[in-house]
Amino acid sequence: KFSSPAQAEFYQAAEEVLHSLRPLFEREKKYLKHNIIERIVEPERQIFFRVCWVDDKGEVQVNKGYRIQFNSAVGPYKGGCRFHPSVRAGIIKFLGFEQIFKNSLTGLAIGGAKGGSNFDPKGKSDNEVMRFCQSFMNELYRHIGATIDVPAGDIGVGGREIGYLYGQYKKLTGHYEGVLTGKRLNWGGSLVRTEATGYGSVYFAEHMMKAAHNGLEGKVCTVSGSGNVAIYTIEKLQQLGAKPVTCSDSKGMIYDKEGIDLELLKNVKEVRRERLTEYAKERKSAVYTPVEKYPEGHNGVWTVPCDCAFPSATQNELNGKDADALLKNGCVCVSEGANMPSTPDAVEKFLAAKIGYGPGKAANAGGVSTSQLEMAQNASMQQWRFEEVDLKLQGIMRGIYKTAAETAKEFGEPHNLVLGANIAGFRKVADSMIEQGVV
Ligand code: NDP
Repeated sequence: KFSSPAQAEFYQAAEEVLHSLRPLFEREKKYLKHNIIERIVEPERQIFFRVCWVDDKGEVQVNKGYRIQFNSAVGPYKGGCRFHPSVRAGIIKFLGFEQIFKNSLTGLAIGGAKGGSNFDPKGKSDNEVMRFCQSFMNELYRHIGATIDVPAGDIGVGGREIGYLYGQYKKLTGHYEGVLTGKRLNWGGSLVRTEATGYGSVYFAEHMMKAAHNGLEGKVCTVSGSGNVAIYTIEKLQQLGAKPVTCSDSKGMIYDKEGIDLELLKNVKEVRRERLTEYAKERKSAVYTPVEKYPEGHNGVWTVPCDCAFPSATQNELNGKDADALLKNGCVCVSEGANMPSTPDAVEKFLAAKIGYGPGKAANAGGVSTSQLEMAQNASMQQWRFEEVDLKLQGIMRGIYKTAAETAKEFGEPHNLVLGANIAGFRKVADSMIEQGVV
């Protein structure tokens, strides 16, 4: 047990991973001999920097910038950047740590990293966002590169932000290269990257359902969040004949018994960049509940009866009580689009109930996988067709599911994809570290 309030999320993530590695350490002594535990929990490099920019009133603003390059044993550092007021070093560290195992599990050659800032893009003009991104890149550019470290988006960082970051990188270095992923299609982006995390999470759910001789067609699904991951989770669920009935943001949630109107949701969130209250105003069947009115101790989304749940907003958004509510209402599958959305007691309950539970580092790995496909397209100066990338994504998600499930079986807990994902992700990185010597 570790404790440090500033790094609570990092310790939570590290404890979960180390706990599930125990059977591996008992079987294979080499990891302890090479002191891999102490080496793997320590980032290779942490970069903390000041980001100064001028707002539209001409006032100077100061934010904190972070890039944590956690592990490069299996490939160049890779992981998104998060712009959100809640960002601090401990959050970036937990995300970077998770990224190591997620990236390893994809089977692709990518190391683990994460970055971000406590800057809040909400309510800022495009010019303010541009000036912030340029200032952020003024420091970051010297630490990244197409074969060094390739950042991408995350909460608060979408195509607009990636564009401003990329423009400044190019200006500073003169290199037109795949240094960022999530780029727009006209200048090096990959088809399917926008959809990849949400689609991937649904593909992963399909595999879990299939293993239980079930399917997604006709299933009522609850989704949290209303950003990139949530929107494309809803889209894929609808394409497969399921019925997503919720979405949410940090202020409240929508319950739409007719099923979410995806066109309206995209218009409100992607085009107008407005709140979900606007969705409720324009959709008769939708009920909006603000956070203050959620049942006590709950995230309201998880109290809506469903067959399958897709947490797609943020860390620790689904607690033990929420897990109880989901299980009581007959939920048989939880696929995590977000990173570490379920608290440890919620995870314990899902595992004990033996439902299909796909931890984020497996279920949401479609995003980073498609980022790697974007890097491959950039390196070969090609652009692949939508169907081609989607097929590759489906293949990668199938591979991730298979690896996690087979490893879980190998260690005697066939339903435990947490154990399977952690051991499989760890083993490849740890073996690579041993083979590369003490550096
Ligand atoms: P977006 O910024 O596009 O959307 C985030 C959504 O989550 C918004 O609806 C936001 O609401 C909500 N949210 C954020 N913080 C909170 C909070 N503290 N409480 C309640 N709701 C919150 O981000 P993404 O969709 O890209 O990311 C969502 C999750 O998926 C994150 O955990 C991210 O790390 C993970 N992820 C994303 C990947 C990607 O490719 N984008 C890849 C793998 C994982 P509001 O607008 O009110 O803040």
